[in-house]
Amino acid sequence: MSSYQHSSFQIHQLPALNDNYIYLMESKIDSVLAVIDPADASIVNQACKRLGKPLTHILNTHHHWDHTDGNKALKQRWNCTVVGAAHDAARIPCIDIAISPEQAFQLGGLQADIIDVGGHTLGHIAYLFDDALFCGDALFGAGCGRIFEGTFEQTWQSLQALAQLDDDTKVYCAHEYTLPNLRFARGVDANNAALKARIHRDTQTRMEQKPTIPSTIGIEKSTNPFLRPLNADFRTEYAHINHIDDTALSVFTHLRQTKG
Ligand SMILES: [Zn+2]
Repeated sequence: MSSYQHSSFQIHQLPALNDNYIYLMESKIDSVLAVIDPADASIVNQACKRLGKPLTHILNTHHHWDHTDGNKALKQRWNCTVVGAAHDAARIPCIDIAISPEQAFQLGGLQADIIDVGGHTLGHIAYLFDDALFCGDALFGAGCGRIFEGTFEQTWQSLQALAQLDDDTKVYCAHEYTLPNLRFARGVDANNAALKARIHRDTQTRMEQKPTIPSTIGIEKSTNPFLRPLNADFRTEYAHINHIDDTALSVFTHLRQTKG
């Protein structure tokens, strides 16, 4: 279990299933202990036991089973409060509080902004607590989620909303997909020095069996191929090589379709 310090909470990162991350957010100012996207209840229970604290909340980013499978058992064990998007109220198990994007959300003494990141699914939300972003499957290390329910345009808007956050915002995404994503990135952005440096760094990190997550918004903006359409030079060159319009949406759509 890796842990990360923020000013008013700490975050514990729990690997689950093949490549999921479950996060426990432990408040430093009150008794809140919240789990984000519990793929597996038993892993969360073990971590609560180790911390010696009861689970108070479940926060879901979207409805997929590998983010919500632990909801029911954890609700039964801890009688915790389950929070999810109002859009997904019918498909998030045991939901108690349905929230909407652009709404401030109070979790004990901690406050979050709720960001609409629809595209991978409709009703996908991200939680921003200070400089910690829980973005589920909307944004990955050097990648983004496949578009199952939304449109390319909607997904691009969601990614742009995340790109507007401060560069030092920590990106706590829900999967360790960084290395395969970087292999795709290298193929489409070969001359990017920041990308080369990241490939070197993250390859080393995985050889040491450590997580490449969290990354930061700044790192993603400079190396993630699905945010690179924001860069005019990249956009122009990519559009030229692939004979497509040089709008950001057109370049993003081509990249997303090419990755498959
Ligand atoms: Zn998903």
